[in-house]
Amino acid sequence: MPIPGRITLLEIFETGTQFAIFVLTNIRCGSSFLCFLFLVKAKGAPQVALHPHCIFQRGSSPIVAAAVHNGHDTRRSVEQRLAIDEDEQQREEDPITGEWTQIAKTQIVGLRSRFEVDLNRPRDKAVYETPADAWGMEVWDTPPDPKMIEASLREYDEFYEDVEALLRELIEEHGRVVVYDLHTYNHRREGADAPPADPRKNPEVNIGTGTMDRKFWAPVVDRFITELREYDFHGRNLDVRENVKFQGGYFGEWIHTTFPEQACAIAIEFKKFFMDEWEGEANPDEVDCIYKALESTLPGVQTALRQL
Ligand SMILES: [Zn+2]
Repeated sequence: MPIPGRITLLEIFETGTQFAIFVLTNIRCGSSFLCFLFLVKAKGAPQVALHPHCIFQRGSSPIVAAAVHNGHDTRRSVEQRLAIDEDEQQREEDPITGEWTQIAKTQIVGLRSRFEVDLNRPRDKAVYETPADAWGMEVWDTPPDPKMIEASLREYDEFYEDVEALLRELIEEHGRVVVYDLHTYNHRREGADAPPADPRKNPEVNIGTGTMDRKFWAPVVDRFITELREYDFHGRNLDVRENVKFQGGYFGEWIHTTFPEQACAIAIEFKKFFMDEWEGEANPDEVDCIYKALESTLPGVQTALRQL
């Protein structure tokens, strides 16, 4: 079982051997651990690629788990211009999704905050410039200048180049792949004490399939939804519904445009029922149970994928 918590990448050192320092914060007890990851450069494709803005972990399976909104860090120059504080930032990010990617052997985990660059939006909208880009929030004290935008978009471009290379390799090896595109969403925007958003329009899990060839991928997507719905979640079933709140973002759209009929990105949005979205505190039992629920879908999805 992984430690439910937040991964922060502190530093990457490049020498003959690459190594990185992470901080893993355990949400059960609030303590932090320093983790060192050593990467000996081997022949051929590296198993783990590290950038200050993303972790790519490469494994041997056609299932990839991605958490593009997991990140919380920003470059110092970005942080200095932000008007919003850390709590406001965190509220709109997708905490815990980085940990849930550990269900799959291949993982893509964003380390930069979406307030620096949003990997789930088209390139020309990836840096928030006006409040309309960010739920009406006044994001900036000093709006980003062209140089800063350019630096953020370089991360964006690198990210998409690396995802393309990774998926191409996996498709070569397995024929087809499925990407679990993991997200979370808020349902208490009116305030901590105000009633939550209407559950009829805000499922516990929203499955976004609006950007894929739904008919072609039906056996895989239907199997995924059935498995997730049937999982015994503390003696009950999760409320899993399709395209009610979201249809899926740009990351999935790009995957489907680049690899039609070869890659299926299922946008999986967990409502923040597993945490207090205002305090930022997650309930470890709910976090664990969601991890297990996601994990329970893997065998069925792999079977459906093989039979496609
Ligand atoms: Zn998200």
